[in-house]
Amino acid sequence: MTKYIDVVLNVPLNQAFTYRIPEDSDSQITVSDGEDYFGRRVEVRFGNRNLTGFITGCYENLPESCAVSEDKIRPAKRFLDQEALLTHELYDLAKWMTDYYLSNIGETVFTMMNFGKRESEYSVFSSDDDFIAEKEKELSDEQKAASEGILDVSQGYFHYLYGMTGSGKTEVFLTAANKVLNQGKGIIYLVPEIGLTPQVQESVTHRFGNTVAVLHSQLTPSQKLKQWHRILNKEARIVIGARSAIFAPVPDLGLIIIDEEHDSSYKAGNAPRYHARQVAMKRASTLKIPLVMGSATPSVEAWASIEKKAIQVHTLTKRLAGGAMPLIKTIDLSSHSKSGSCLSKELENEIRHTLQENRQTILFLNRRGFTHFFRCNSCGYEMKCKNCSVSMTYHKAEKRLRCHYCGFSLEPPKVCPKCQSLDVGYSGFGTEFIEAEVKAKFPAARIIRVDTDALNHKGELEEKLTAFKNGEYDILLGTQMVAKGLNFPNLKLVGVVLADTSLHLPDFRAAEKTFSLITQVAGRAGRFFPDGKVLVQTYSPESEPILYAVKGETEEFYKNELETRKMLSFPPYTRLLRLVFRSQIPKAAYVASQGAKGILKMNCCPDVQILGPAECPLEMVNNNHRWQIILRGKEIRSLQKMAAAFVRGYKAPKDVYIEVDVDPVNML
Ligand code: ADP
Ligand code: ZN
Ligand code: ZN
Repeated sequence: MTKYIDVVLNVPLNQAFTYRIPEDSDSQITVSDGEDYFGRRVEVRFGNRNLTGFITGCYENLPESCAVSEDKIRPAKRFLDQEALLTHELYDLAKWMTDYYLSNIGETVFTMMNFGKRESEYSVFSSDDDFIAEKEKELSDEQKAASEGILDVSQGYFHYLYGMTGSGKTEVFLTAANKVLNQGKGIIYLVPEIGLTPQVQESVTHRFGNTVAVLHSQLTPSQKLKQWHRILNKEARIVIGARSAIFAPVPDLGLIIIDEEHDSSYKAGNAPRYHARQVAMKRASTLKIPLVMGSATPSVEAWASIEKKAIQVHTLTKRLAGGAMPLIKTIDLSSHSKSGSCLSKELENEIRHTLQENRQTILFLNRRGFTHFFRCNSCGYEMKCKNCSVSMTYHKAEKRLRCHYCGFSLEPPKVCPKCQSLDVGYSGFGTEFIEAEVKAKFPAARIIRVDTDALNHKGELEEKLTAFKNGEYDILLGTQMVAKGLNFPNLKLVGVVLADTSLHLPDFRAAEKTFSLITQVAGRAGRFFPDGKVLVQTYSPESEPILYAVKGETEEFYKNELETRKMLSFPPYTRLLRLVFRSQIPKAAYVASQGAKGILKMNCCPDVQILGPAECPLEMVNNNHRWQIILRGKEIRSLQKMAAAFVRGYKAPKDVYIEVDVDPVNML
C-alpha cells in the first residue's frame, strides 16, 4: 500500500517533493491492482501556495534518502486524475532531458505536459479550410522505395528523406505512416511551427480521419487534456503537431516523422532548451523504432551524419505535380544606381510581366537581419573576425566593430582593406519602406504583407495566405513565414529582395541559413507549371551560399560548408554549450559572466575551450544586458559536465539570470 508519494512541481528546483497520502483518500481515487499513483496529478501545499504536480514515485515506507523527517511530511490535498497522464517512458525521457539540457525536472515535466502554455501565436489553421481534397496518388518508384526503406531498421533507426522542394516527401511519409498504423502502432508527425502545418494537417486528417490528434498551440488546457486522453486510450494513433508534440504519450509508438528537419522552430527558446530532433533520436533509439527526417535542405549536422552513415538517406529526385525547378537568377545590386530603391529594374520588369499575365508574385524579405554590418560598396568586402570568421557588428555608441563570439574589436577602417576604396559604410533595408515602394510602383496591384508586425489577430496568417492562394491578391510580401512548404498554384515569380541579410548575421550558421532560405523560397515557384522564375537580389552575388543556392548545387554547398566548419572548429566537428548572463543592471551581467569563467576554468576538462565572456550580439533584450560564454569541445559530455558543475552548484547573484543552452541554434 502506497503511503508516500514523490511529486514533481513546476518550481525552479531540480528535485521532487515527498508528500503523505491522507487517510481518507480512498474515496477520491481508485487504484486498480498492479497500478499505482504514478503519473497522476495531485494538488499539494508548497510553502504557502497550493500547487498541482505529477506523482513520480510511490512508497510504502519513507525512503531513507528523503531529506525531511516523517512528522514534517505534509499530506497531499487532492488527486486530480483517475488515469495516469505521465507515462514511465516519458518520465525517463524527462530525466534524460534534465541531464542533457541541464534543466530542472519540474520545468521539464511541465514543458512536456504543457496543458496551457502557448507555443506560438500564428500556427493554426482551422480544419474546415477548403484546401484541395486530394486524392491518394500513385507513388513513383522512388517514392515506393523510400516509403519502404524508411521503416527498415536493420541498418539503424535514423532515416532521412532528402529531396528537392515539391518532390513528394509528404506522400512518402503518409504511406509509411499508413503501414505502421496497419501494424497496430502509433505515429508522431512533427511539422514546423508556422507555414506548413495547415496543409499537412489537412492531408493527414483527410487520409486518417478520427484516428488523428492535432496538438497545436491554440488548444485550451482542457482541449489539450482531451487530446492527451485520446492518445493514451489509443483512440488517436497519429499525433501531428509542432515541436512539443514529440512528447505525445503514444502507446506502442512505431514511427516518428520530422518534416522540414532543418527548421529552427524545432529548438525550444526557453528552458529546457531542447531540440525536438535530439529528443526524437533519444526516444526512437530507446524504443528501437524508426525516426525519419525530411527536407530539401537538411541541417549541416544532419548532412554530416548522413555522410557518416549514422543516418540512412533516401532520395527523391523529381517534381511530380507537373512543375519543374524554376529558373533562378541573381541580380547584383552593387551595379545598380544608388537611387535608394529596393527593386532593381529587372525585378520591377518581371513583376510587371507577371501582373500582365494575371499570375502571382511573392517578394521575400528577411527582416530578421542585422542592418549594421561593415561593407565596401566598391568590391563588396565585409569585415569578419580574424578568429571566428563571423561578421563584425558595428556599435554606434562606441564606434567600434566587434566580434560577438570572442569579443575581439577594432576601429572601423576608413578605407576598404581589400581594394582601398573610400566608399565604405553600413547597410540595411526596412520592410515598410519596401512595401511603400512596391505600392507606389504598382498602384493597380493588390498587395498583401505577411510578417509578425503585420499580423494583429489570431488566424490572420491563415486568412491572408488563403486569400492569396485564392487569387485575391497579386503580390505577397512576406518574411520566413512564406518560405515554408506552401503550395500556391498560380505563383509564377519569386523575388528575394535582399539575400544578404541572413548572410551577415554574426552566426557561424549564417551561410547555412542563407542557402536554405533561398532554396526554400525559390522552391515555392514552379511547383505546378514549368515556367517558374526566381530573382535573387544581392550585394554579394559571388558569396558561396548564394551561388550554390542559385545554381541548385546542393551537394557542393554542403561539401564546401563542411570544410569551412572543420577549419574553424564549429559544429558538426565540435559541440557547443552557451551560457547567457542577463541582468537589468548593466554591470551585473558582465561581472557574473567573469565570475563564471573563473569557476568554469577550475572545472575545465581537457580539450574544452572557454570562449568569452563577450557581449551577446543582441546585447540588450527587454532592457536586459546580455553577456555570453561559449564552451566548445569535441565531446558534448565534457561540456555538460563542466556546465553542470557550475550551474548546479552556483547561486546566481540577485538580479542576474543564467540561460543554459546545450547545442545552441540561436547564437544572437
Ligand atoms: P515536398 O514535401 O517534397 O516539398 P509535396 O509533398 O508537397 O513535396 O509534393 C509536391 C506536390 O507533388 C504536391 O502537390 C503533391 O500532391 C504532388 N505529388 C506527390 N506525389 C505525387 C505522385 N506520386 N504523383 C503525382 N503528384 C504527386
Ligand atoms: Zn573594397
Ligand atoms: Zn571572434
